[in-house]
Amino acid sequence: MNIILFGPPGSGKGTQAKLLQSDRGLPQLSTGDMLRAAIAAGTELGKKCKAIMDAGELVSDEIVIGIIAERYAQKDCAGGAVFDGFPRSIPQAEALDKMLGNAGQAIDLVIELKVNDEILIKRVEQRIKESGGVARADDTPETLKNRLAVYYKNTAPLLDYYKAQGKLNTVDGMAPIDEVTHAIAAVIDAAEGK
Ligand code: ADP
Repeated sequence: MNIILFGPPGSGKGTQAKLLQSDRGLPQLSTGDMLRAAIAAGTELGKKCKAIMDAGELVSDEIVIGIIAERYAQKDCAGGAVFDGFPRSIPQAEALDKMLGNAGQAIDLVIELKVNDEILIKRVEQRIKESGGVARADDTPETLKNRLAVYYKNTAPLLDYYKAQGKLNTVDGMAPIDEVTHAIAAVIDAAEGK
């Protein structure tokens, strides 16, 4: 099964993707994690992306489509994957549909974690406090505002794209973590006919 976890920055996609990975064996494909790993490793790609990410802007579609294609071609994705933070634009979504189609696969479900802006800002402020000064470079109140603006401008239009495909499911991302996990499980089980 191929699932997209969808939502604004700080909505809990990463937390829930990790749980899906451990509970269902679906690898978590997080473009944010892959890009941060490239930066940490000092690769050319990482160098290209660092300033863009630090500013809360989107790196180019070409780059993220390339890293996703490379990752999805690995054996552990044969049974599907959880896409976390990808796609983030209409061209990325179109490229993903094409890539999966070529592999005889498709997106089965898009699960939106709905969280309002006020709570997102509070969560990131909390994350900054807890990190004790080693927060992600893009976890600042100013950059978060830009990441949210970029989300609404470039990424939120994907909700209509997937609604039109009949794949969109929305869960309350403001509920406690285990309740969100349950709600996601219910959506997946229903899709599997359980
Ligand atoms: P969050 O969802 O908390 O904003 P991510 O870890 O998903 O964080 O992404 C961090 C940054 O990495 C983004 O702000 C962007 O610069 C870059 N990035 C991640 N995924 C993509 C993508 N699919 N397209 C373009 N840029 C991306």
